[in-house]
Amino acid sequence: MDTRERLVALDKQYVWHPYTEMSRYRERAQPLVIAGARGSRLYDVDGRSYLDGNASWWTALLGHGHPRVVAALKAQAEALCHVSLAGMTHEPAAELAAELVARAPEGQNHVFFSDNGSTAIEAAMKMAVQYWYQNGRPSRRRFLALEGAFHGDTIGVTALGGVEVFRRPFAGLLLDCVHVAPSDLGATRALDTLERLIASEADTLAAVVLEPCVQAAAGMRLYDPRALTQVRELCTRHDVFLIADEVFTGYGRTGPMWACDHAAVRPDITCVAKGFTAGTLPMAATLVTDRIFEGFLGEKSRAFYYGHTFCGNPLGARVALEVLRIYRDEQVLEKAAVKAQRIAAAFAEFRELPGVTRTRSLGMIGALDLDETGGYLSEAGWRVYEQALARGAYLRPLGNVVYITPPLTIADQDLDELLEILAASVRAAAD
Ligand SMILES: *Cc1c(COP(=O)(O)O)cnc(C)c1O
Repeated sequence: MDTRERLVALDKQYVWHPYTEMSRYRERAQPLVIAGARGSRLYDVDGRSYLDGNASWWTALLGHGHPRVVAALKAQAEALCHVSLAGMTHEPAAELAAELVARAPEGQNHVFFSDNGSTAIEAAMKMAVQYWYQNGRPSRRRFLALEGAFHGDTIGVTALGGVEVFRRPFAGLLLDCVHVAPSDLGATRALDTLERLIASEADTLAAVVLEPCVQAAAGMRLYDPRALTQVRELCTRHDVFLIADEVFTGYGRTGPMWACDHAAVRPDITCVAKGFTAGTLPMAATLVTDRIFEGFLGEKSRAFYYGHTFCGNPLGARVALEVLRIYRDEQVLEKAAVKAQRIAAAFAEFRELPGVTRTRSLGMIGALDLDETGGYLSEAGWRVYEQALARGAYLRPLGNVVYITPPLTIADQDLDELLEILAASVRAAAD
């Protein structure tokens, strides 16, 4: 047996894959068996290369194996791999928190570390509820979120989520949330509705939670940044917290460092993960204002009794610190702005491809809808996926939505190749 066959056999016997129906996987899937990655390319065990069209689930914003990231990780591993943040600190956590606050939306002055996007949001939810509990508004325990939202997979954040197939089995178990349609946010009448909702629920709402500007998992759905301004105003007027889930959008995915920057909106809580370590290690942060931080001071019972074992992990923190420095030293955002224009131009043309009903782009995101209903469970995107694999690109779809979210640092010729493969694959899949 060659290496590929051996690994696939072990995998199919033992590994339960995320977001995967396993019987079909076992029968039919021919998974990529990846042995290495550099820049925007993945290499399989047979030496074939694939352009990483989604930056490995939206994380590898600096490409794979950035030499400074690898060097920082090696040096940190030699010095200190892990200690807890209980009663101690270390250079990576302290330096990272300071640097992150310096780059964060204004007013986000304190950093709580965790391991992944879901926990970053989960921590934010608990902070909001506990804040109100001990600061005079204990009835505020509900959340308002957007239809189609995705905030992760733990039970708490599943309640916020609006992707129906993901929530259905847990109906009844989930926290009570109010969902509103993002498409409505820009419209005056809907804003009236939202305003009335927030006003009437002001006694029960702990926070509004949203993915600013783009709902990624819902199918790269964009909405008008002006809606953010309006939601911010409503939250301020009724003194409800605004939690910005920048897990996907942060670190320049949509252009500026934060998607909230499109509307100069300052959240009360900002959640960061995915690009935080540029796809190297699981690491996340929840940033808060002075007001929220101070709401936990005083009596011992007011403390935030929450903390994952690996929070502030030195390896992750050191890498995350290096990532911020690379953003600065290599002008990552400035250079990505030029690439974003190529993506915008290409996706405008993709409107003419067979079977395509709509296209859109924002920053380093380009997406198109195929003419098929069925949403997340649609097979249409998977036909394009197969075609793209054969042509050397990994273009995992979201149902009938085919998209690219490449590393922000993708080389121009790689980006051109990725766009060409996408177009050719859509054409071939339509035949
Ligand atoms: C991926 C994602 C999450 C969850 O992050 P995990 O690290 O997968 O737990 C939360 N919010 C958004 C917007 C995401 O894209």
